Formats: sequence, C-alpha cells, structure tokens
Amino acid sequence: MKTNILKALLPTSTAGSLPKPAWLAQPETLWSPWKLQGDELIAGKHDALRLSLQDQQQAGLDIVSDGEQTRQHFVTTFLEHLNGVDFEQRKTVKIRDRYEASVPTVVGPVSRQKPVFVDDAKFLRQQTKQTIKWALPGPMTMVDTLYDDHYKSREKLAWEFAKILNEEAKELEAAGVDIIQFDEPAFNVFFDEVNDWGIACLERAIEGLKCETAVHICYGYGIKANTDWKNTLGSEWRQYEQAFPKLQKSNIDIISLECHNSRVPMELLELIRGKKVMVGAIDVASNTIETPEEVAKTLREALKYVDADKLYPSTNCGMAPLSQQVARGKLNALTAGAAIVRRELATSN
Ligand SMILES: [Zn+2]
Repeated sequence: MKTNILKALLPTSTAGSLPKPAWLAQPETLWSPWKLQGDELIAGKHDALRLSLQDQQQAGLDIVSDGEQTRQHFVTTFLEHLNGVDFEQRKTVKIRDRYEASVPTVVGPVSRQKPVFVDDAKFLRQQTKQTIKWALPGPMTMVDTLYDDHYKSREKLAWEFAKILNEEAKELEAAGVDIIQFDEPAFNVFFDEVNDWGIACLERAIEGLKCETAVHICYGYGIKANTDWKNTLGSEWRQYEQAFPKLQKSNIDIISLECHNSRVPMELLELIRGKKVMVGAIDVASNTIETPEEVAKTLREALKYVDADKLYPSTNCGMAPLSQQVARGKLNALTAGAAIVRRELATSN
C-alpha cells in the first residue's frame, strides 16, 4: 500500500538537478569536472547538498531533493559505479538521435558493485523531515548514453539496467526516500521502443517498491543541441502522445513533464488522467525568471486536465546549467505561483 505523504494541495518540487557551488564545480556547465579531490571532494559534495537543500527550503518547496550535488551527470555518474562498463574505451555516439557525445563502452555483463547513491540519500534523510525525492536515470536513457559492445541489443541491456536500478531503488526506499524518480528523456524520441520495451523495463525497475515512483520525460536541459532540436519540432509538440496511453496503464504513480513555454498541447494531459502529474511550470532553457502569475497561468491550464489533488507544480527539467541566482529566482517563482492557485482552489470550494 502506498502512503499518502503530502496533505496540502499542489506540492512543489524540482525535476531534479540544481546548480553546484563555484568552489565544487565549474558553474553553468554540464559534465563539469570537480574542483576538489579525495576526502575534500566527499565533504564538499555533502556541504553542497546541504546548501542546495537550504535553497529549496527557503523557497518553500514541499518536496525536496539533493539537487544532484553529488553527481557529475545524471546518467554517467550511475554508470561509473557498474561492472561491465569501461570508461577508458570511449566511443562517439549520437545521444537521443540529436547530439554527439563521447561515451563509455559496455564490454561485459553489467552489474552493480555497490550502492551508488544510498549513502547520499541517507545523508539527505538526516537533514530533513520533509518528503524527499531521489532521481535515477531510466533504463532506456542509460542505454542511449553509452556504446554497447557486449549485449548488442538495446532491449536486453535496458532489461539488465532495470534489474540493477531496482536493487538501487529498494535500498533508496529503505534509506527513507519517499519518491523515486526515473529520468527518461529518451521516451520523447524512441516511440516504438518505448511501447515495445521501454515502459516494461521501467516497471521492472520499480518492482516491489512501496514508496511512490515517478518518471520524468522532458525535452532536455537548456543546452544548444536541445534548443536547436526543439526548433525543428514545429508548432505543436505531440511527442507525449506516443507514450502516454501505455504510461497511463502502467504502475508508475507520477509523471513529470515539460509544459511551461513549450509547445506541448496541454490537452495531451487528458491521456494520463488518473495519474499524478508533475507539471513543468518553470522554463529551464531561459534565464528569464518567470513571474508568479505566469506560473499560475500554466498551472490553471493544467488543472483543466489534471485533478487538483494530483497536480504537482515543478520545473520543466533540471536547473544544473543555470546560475544559482537565476535558479533561486525560479524556485521562488514556482512556490509563489503555486500559492496563487492554491488560494484560488481554496476559495472556489
Ligand atoms: Zn529533464
């Protein structure tokens, strides 16, 4: 049985990452190298996690996270901890059919040597009694961020990753994580695979969990390759239409989506009616800080298709590539916008 941990309407959260402090890693950069080493790096990551938590709390977020302060990248940091993945053998592949990146190679059977994020999650749990959410990469997105020289089948490899993710997720749950989220931006690209095995692998990854589970599907970080891609997608972005029907029938509790400033027709949300929806009401591809009223407008639009008790205001994606100042401004706008709509809902009843 799943516990209903949040009592208030419209609980706010981020989709995932937040900027790192300049003393820990080069700001406004993806895959930014660490500036510390050894024990200093371990202590520095924990300090950054505490600061990131404080930013979220000061903004008044209801669901908090580690801001992904202990990882260099949402996929590769997880891969680094697995057997069977060789980071010395790098190949250049096209990620999400969009941009080239130098990635590690799968050279043998994949398995988890030891827990990847469990100690970090325990550390976060010690810092707060609030609902906490932890993000993991999804199986399909992991497969899409490496070169496979062993399984030679995206589906087989995704299935192996799903089993590994399930081990990690169970330990995160035991560490006190309330919501485990799987990031699957690849679901917006490989529609046939999503329906053939993508959602099935996701369900394998959440098997046996009692905590809440989420899948985050977006149009990516606000980097140039993604912005250029978005410019080719036309006036209506209907990618979600492909995965939603099957996701609606899946065991996943929450679906996290990009909505604000995107060209996703909001009526597509009707296809996942019944699920909890993390509605992206903050654009992560722009340095312009939304006004609370702009956030409220997006949430009101979403409320036409999502029941009020299932709407979770959030950001479109992670904010790692933004400056800390802009990210803080956006967190404040998110909670202020949610507060406006919460008041409206209270007076309309
Ligand atoms: Zn995202």
